[in-house]
Amino acid sequence: MLLHYIHRRSFSSTNQVASFARWYRGLWQPKLANEPPYDHVTQIGDPILRQKADLVPPEAVTSPEVRLLVKLIVDVMRKYDCVGLAAPQIGISLRILVMEFKEKLRDEFTSIEYKNKEMETLPLTVFINPELKVTNFEKKVFPEACQSVRGYSGEVSRYSEILLRGLDENGVSKELTLKGWNARIAQHEMDHLNGIIYTDIMNRQTFACTCWQAVNAHRGRVRIGFHKK
Ligand SMILES: [Zn+2]
Repeated sequence: MLLHYIHRRSFSSTNQVASFARWYRGLWQPKLANEPPYDHVTQIGDPILRQKADLVPPEAVTSPEVRLLVKLIVDVMRKYDCVGLAAPQIGISLRILVMEFKEKLRDEFTSIEYKNKEMETLPLTVFINPELKVTNFEKKVFPEACQSVRGYSGEVSRYSEILLRGLDENGVSKELTLKGWNARIAQHEMDHLNGIIYTDIMNRQTFACTCWQAVNAHRGRVRIGFHKK
């Protein structure tokens, strides 16, 4: 059998074998390509995260496609336990962001941290074609993380109060004033729509792997996952 294999190989160039193998696999396997919108979060380095996202055309805001896209962004935000997500983070360069700060997050922080960071419950909030206006120029510095830079954090200075204007998921105009941590989330997600990632504006000396202690404790046997079911 081995001889037969070697004999056959001697009559075929490597390229021919490879292309035949691809063709043969294609008969039996589904397509391997994965097209956006994704059900995972795009990672820093992906050019989509560096584009200035396009406005959703007014006539498309309430289309089934945009409704589905909003649903997908919300689904991925919840799946990855994020408090905000922007369309480019699932591979679509459109000006859509979603935010949600669940009540149950109160249990995940100490009461001191919750108060210091001015955290507050925010129900699911969708903005299509949002504009951001700073309403309080006082700045606060806190560590921030991003699902598109998984496993790291860095300190970022953000304005303490902003006003978001845009359309909701039904195409209705709305305005929302946000302060403290929710204002931070809004600024972070707006940056995504403009191709900016927090690593561009952070205090670089504070950039840290969020699991560096675990790496030491477990002799390096720590994995950062990019997939969640
Ligand atoms: Zn982010």
